[in-house]
Amino acid sequence: MKYIFISGGVLSGLGKGITASSIGLLLKHSGLNVTAIKVDPYLNCDAGTMNPYEHGEVFVLHDGGEVDLDLGNYERFLDIYLSSDHNITTGKIYRSVIEKERRGDYLGKTVQIIPHVVNEIKETIKKVSAGSGAQVCMVELGGTVGDIESMPFLEAARQLQMDEGIGNVMFVHTTLVPIMGVVGEQKTKPTQHSVKELRSIGIQPDIIVGRCQEPLDGSTKSKISLFCNVPVSSVFSAHDVGTVYSVPRLLLDQGMTDRVKERLSLSMGPTEMTKWDDFVERIGSPKDNVKIALVGKYTGLKDSYISHYKAFEHSSANAGVNVEIIWIDAPEKGKEWGKELQKMGEQLSGCDGVLVPGGFGARGTEGKIEAIRFARENDMPFLGICLGFQLAVVEYARNVMGLESANSTEFDPDTRYPVVDILPEQLRVTQKGATMRLGAQKAFVSEGTQAYGLYGRIEIEERHRHRFEINPEWVDRIREKGWVFSAVSEDGIKMEMGELPCNRYHLGCQFHPEFLSHPRRPAPLFYGLVKAAMEYRRTRYT
Ligand code: GLN
Repeated sequence: MKYIFISGGVLSGLGKGITASSIGLLLKHSGLNVTAIKVDPYLNCDAGTMNPYEHGEVFVLHDGGEVDLDLGNYERFLDIYLSSDHNITTGKIYRSVIEKERRGDYLGKTVQIIPHVVNEIKETIKKVSAGSGAQVCMVELGGTVGDIESMPFLEAARQLQMDEGIGNVMFVHTTLVPIMGVVGEQKTKPTQHSVKELRSIGIQPDIIVGRCQEPLDGSTKSKISLFCNVPVSSVFSAHDVGTVYSVPRLLLDQGMTDRVKERLSLSMGPTEMTKWDDFVERIGSPKDNVKIALVGKYTGLKDSYISHYKAFEHSSANAGVNVEIIWIDAPEKGKEWGKELQKMGEQLSGCDGVLVPGGFGARGTEGKIEAIRFARENDMPFLGICLGFQLAVVEYARNVMGLESANSTEFDPDTRYPVVDILPEQLRVTQKGATMRLGAQKAFVSEGTQAYGLYGRIEIEERHRHRFEINPEWVDRIREKGWVFSAVSEDGIKMEMGELPCNRYHLGCQFHPEFLSHPRRPAPLFYGLVKAAMEYRRTRYT
């Protein structure tokens, strides 16, 4: 196993994840088997209980792992499925060390950060990468070099290089190169300082990737090379590009695969980029434009909905159209309700489609219901995901079936018309962490439905993350009044998808199709929404 550690210096948000995914992609396209691990130095055991507004989206894996959104990048770039072990957090490491201590595994020793915690980190990295069957493992170290909480992980990386041999472990350090003053001078001092910090803990980077607004000048590269003790050919420019999908090509053109190949003595072929370049080209040259409203709760931090954003990108490249997302913060019922609804109505009128994503808690639900009503009444294409699906059924029950106080018991436990209710197996659950209906589940699609037209097959598998469902006791009544439940769970009880045949595209799904969308295989329900939005736009202007 060859390991490539990716650390970050100066500040967070430099795109370490994209750098790591891009290097991984280049190696994969050169014929190697590549996997990835993300290290998050926080004490949470997983990302499941973290607020998306603070930390970005919670990504869900096939095995039900609720993980950092960077794992989504790895899955999409490397076209692999990862398991939750591939997200190592301080919480997980400490939990395991403490369990071992309680079992008496340390035979009376004083349990310490060095060696016990650091050993646990090394063993976990080795075990997870070996289990994947890959030849190369990208290990992204979350946080910034110099943070107290990252220390044990950096120490583990340093020791791993000693244990595995210098030729099997390399370090890529990403830093910031700011541009100062009117003459636009590229400054290398922050890079010098962060490399100094890294070297003080015994790690000499092999490659430095400098994030900059502009391409790094030759003189900037030389200066970084001199002060940071790396050859000029190992200093890479990661300047601003139109889309993150261009980053692999950017690094390839500067010789990334050659540097990694030499350093780790890898035997690999030429890097085959035709299909990838073609995809990037299509993303960059859309013929048309559609506007899709994303009516959510965390629209202030776009990272909260990153997989939706990606799924639209994939659909957009494949459909040859630019998808412009109009972020709408779902209005709250209160003093300004009337005014806010009017504002949302105006915003929605300028759109060609509506997406209501998943969510938890009552905040914004009434606003989302109104957005769904707008879409249904105007025959504007609509996709409801998880909570969005549940609310579409609530909206229908209220406004078409005349059940005015219909609701989900998540928001009104005493509603007379509980059209959405808690899953029976969730009634016994008391803890919040990792207790939802999670991960990949099979569903069966009915032939002749719109859903079948999009998936083209009966048996599908999609990722879930929910506690509530369309109430099985209400399914028949809702069906009689017009909904078609186009997919059901394996046990035939849970409604997995629904559609309103009288509308051109009014669909909902209990699962999260965004997690399985891939650049060359866009999620069918997103693709369907984009195509329907194109059609809607055409009919509107002709
Ligand atoms: N809150 C809803 C539930 O638990 C929806 C969850 C979601 O959208 N992910 O079922």
